[in-house]
Amino acid sequence: MSARPRIGVLALQGDFREHIASLTELGAEVVPLRRPEEIGTLHGVVIPGGESSVMDKLSRAFGVAVPLSAAIQGGLPTYGTCAGMIMLSSRIAAGIPGQQTLDVLDTTVRRNAFGSQNDSFETDIPMPALGDAPVHAVFIRAPVVEQHGPGVDVLGALPDGQVVAVQQGNVIASAFHPEVAGEDRFHRRFLELVRAA
Ligand code: GLN
Repeated sequence: MSARPRIGVLALQGDFREHIASLTELGAEVVPLRRPEEIGTLHGVVIPGGESSVMDKLSRAFGVAVPLSAAIQGGLPTYGTCAGMIMLSSRIAAGIPGQQTLDVLDTTVRRNAFGSQNDSFETDIPMPALGDAPVHAVFIRAPVVEQHGPGVDVLGALPDGQVVAVQQGNVIASAFHPEVAGEDRFHRRFLELVRAA
């Protein structure tokens, strides 16, 4: 690999610009991913927050979903935030009728898990795998991980035990948005996976 890893940020819908800014800041070459033929040129992929049902429809309509799922299953390092976590999950609860995913993370993820009372909130969560300082987590109509298989490591959970950040091999997912909080440790961890791959 050249000195700068080439990262694609799925740019069909959602807060892809914030991820592009975070990754550029960390020295990656970042490109918006919109077409299937771009996937083979990438060292890693980020799936942003947004609206997972729309992202699902667009990724299938653009022919990106099937080759992207295959590339991630083949080991392409990937990080998804919020709607991106839903896109990665093998199983979803409270999806819209017909909603599909890339099916690369052995989790059941519930959409909009915090209800309308708690639509958006911010909190600090200890995540020893990311370092001593707690992670400042911004939740926006966020999902939670309801269930996960044995190959999935929990990186972070709320005080009541609800799992909100996980890793399975080269796939990292968080229910919250580090890219809007000036929190770069998830992107750094993702780029370490990219460099090791
Ligand atoms: N509620 C959105 C969904 O279901 C996710 C929200 C987000 O990405 N901030 O896709």
